Amino acid sequence: MTSASEAPPLINCDSCGVPNSIEAWQCAKCGAALARARASAISVAEQIAPTITEAKTHGGCLTAFLIYLMFSSAVILFAFFTRPAGGRPTADQSVLTLAGLAIGFANLAAPIGIWRWKKWGVYLCVMSAGVQIGIVFLVGLSIFSASGALLTLGLVRLLLNPIWKYFQ
Ligand SMILES: [Zn+2]
Repeated sequence: MTSASEAPPLINCDSCGVPNSIEAWQCAKCGAALARARASAISVAEQIAPTITEAKTHGGCLTAFLIYLMFSSAVILFAFFTRPAGGRPTADQSVLTLAGLAIGFANLAAPIGIWRWKKWGVYLCVMSAGVQIGIVFLVGLSIFSASGALLTLGLVRLLLNPIWKYFQ
């Protein structure tokens, strides 16, 4: 990526405005300390990902949420497919099975989409949680399953709302 002939990027001094090497600790003209952290962030943004700002990072909370989403998908599917037989289903079993499979795939695809900053990942996550809540009440699963989907919706609101502008 980098070659010897490539000139290092410049950063303007905050005090006097003279351009300095991004490697420099002090301004060559006035001697003011240069904001090295800011210089590094600008350097990375310019050299590696011009369209990505330093605020567009996944962060620990979002990463944990996406892992939780996949885990909750497994729990939901397990609870759905191992529900006690002999109940009195109010809807066709094959429809419920299809819905369960759809949730399984949706909760698998949604974290991947969210990780790649795709809006469809968020939509998929919200729709999946909505269908989960519907099925939980329809089939009569434990309230734990519904609270999991409600938690998902709450976390989407909490974690994704501040970074929604980065999704496309
Ligand atoms: Zn200066």
